[in-house]
Amino acid sequence: MTRTLAFQHEAAYVDGQWIGADDDKTLTVRDPATGETLGTVPACGKAETARAIAAAEAALPAWRARTAKDRAQILHRLANIIEQNADALGTLLTREQGKSLAEAKGEVNFSAAYVRWFAEEAQRIYGDVIPSPWAGRRILVTKEPVGVVGAITPWNFPSSMIARKLGPALAAGCTIVIKPASQTPYSGLAWGELCEQAGIPAGVVNVLTGSASAIGGELMDNPAVRKITFTGSTPIGKKLVEQSAKTLKKVSMELGGNAPFIVFDDADVDRAVEGALIAKYRNSGQTCVCTNRFLVQAGIHDSFVAKLAAASEALKVGNGLEPGVQQGPLIDEKAVEKVEEHIKDALGKGAKIVTGGHRHRLGGSFFEPTVLTGMTPDMLVARDETFGPLSPVFKFDTEDQAVRMANDTEFGLASYFYTRDLARAFRVAENLKYGMVGINEGLITTEVAPFGGVKESGMGKEGSKYGIEDYLDVKYVCVGGL
Ligand code: ADP
Repeated sequence: MTRTLAFQHEAAYVDGQWIGADDDKTLTVRDPATGETLGTVPACGKAETARAIAAAEAALPAWRARTAKDRAQILHRLANIIEQNADALGTLLTREQGKSLAEAKGEVNFSAAYVRWFAEEAQRIYGDVIPSPWAGRRILVTKEPVGVVGAITPWNFPSSMIARKLGPALAAGCTIVIKPASQTPYSGLAWGELCEQAGIPAGVVNVLTGSASAIGGELMDNPAVRKITFTGSTPIGKKLVEQSAKTLKKVSMELGGNAPFIVFDDADVDRAVEGALIAKYRNSGQTCVCTNRFLVQAGIHDSFVAKLAAASEALKVGNGLEPGVQQGPLIDEKAVEKVEEHIKDALGKGAKIVTGGHRHRLGGSFFEPTVLTGMTPDMLVARDETFGPLSPVFKFDTEDQAVRMANDTEFGLASYFYTRDLARAFRVAENLKYGMVGINEGLITTEVAPFGGVKESGMGKEGSKYGIEDYLDVKYVCVGGL
């Protein structure tokens, strides 16, 4: 049955108008917890995207000409509106994505926090005056918005991944065309209504749903788009970087990870288990900073495993709308199959199940929080991101071995480790080839710190004072004849 929820729009938002696809085609959106159809969204393609880009281009001169203070006030208003509607936006997010309502509302408030942070940063886009090597000249450096931004976002954080891109883009004076993931388009389209309420002029923000390759293709090919910001898988990210080369766009890529979570013998085990739960099971394991591999030192291995298994077993699995639920369903059947594949492969190579290991009795795409031991580097999960509630525990003996194992991946997004030895803390943090390191903490993402990876986890930073730089071009002005 189709039910309409607050902020649920079954139309794309282009140039301040709510539109259908040119050919009236639609995509169906489902609730992953119940399988129920939530509704449809337009299946837009190349032509609608070209119009959205033209609208963003037309809106650019007036938006960038506004004072930073003016843009900041509008962004603060947008953040207020998001916060005031956190319940409704959270419910919409849980319905289409599956995560618990508490996590969904947390995400919505996190979106507001990003928008508010960049409202402030809008007013701190400083330039430079450089001492001139020539008499009678001045060297000025200013920063300008890059122009029209194309943003492609994933289903695991359907609201906050947009906030991280829209916030700095608008703060910098850019306009934006957003393509949310087809599994979770409503939280993306809701930004149209939120921006409208905040008084953001038509064309500054556009949101299109539909074919990834058609919308993505136009965003990549159109020379008016000067920057692409993408959060998603590494293979698609590589493809987009390649496509962006034709018009040499500036790119930011937040791609896959293979986060290690190292527990040394000298760690506080209870604290490590607490951190492990959040680093592993947040969003049912479906985040790019989720632990993919637990590396545990031999002396503490058994006690850590016992405590992690007990805590994993105690997690309440269910429909995210039900009170107290901590683990919602996975996004779809394909996601469940990947977890099953990783478990089957590991068991075939000698791993043992400590807890879980199967589809949950609730059916659908629910899966049991699972702990495996006896892991070895030849198993699939050692290389490939599971993106599900699977905790594989690898045993190690020495610090060098742990660091080597942690770095033995093409990815380099988030990493975590637990120790009470100060010297080791510095040593290991400096030796981990990752963009982010949590020491004795399992949840480190905040709007004030730079989020981003190295190696094949991508390029660019989101959040923090660094996050706005990706949306700015540096201009050098030489003033002579003085
Ligand atoms: P995930 O595996 O997390 O779904 P994807 O990289 O497949 O990650 O998808 C992330 C986002 O990229 C989604 O919005 C998706 O629609 C979009 N996408 C997928 N394929 C393409 C493509 N060929 N061109 C542009 N965008 C794409």
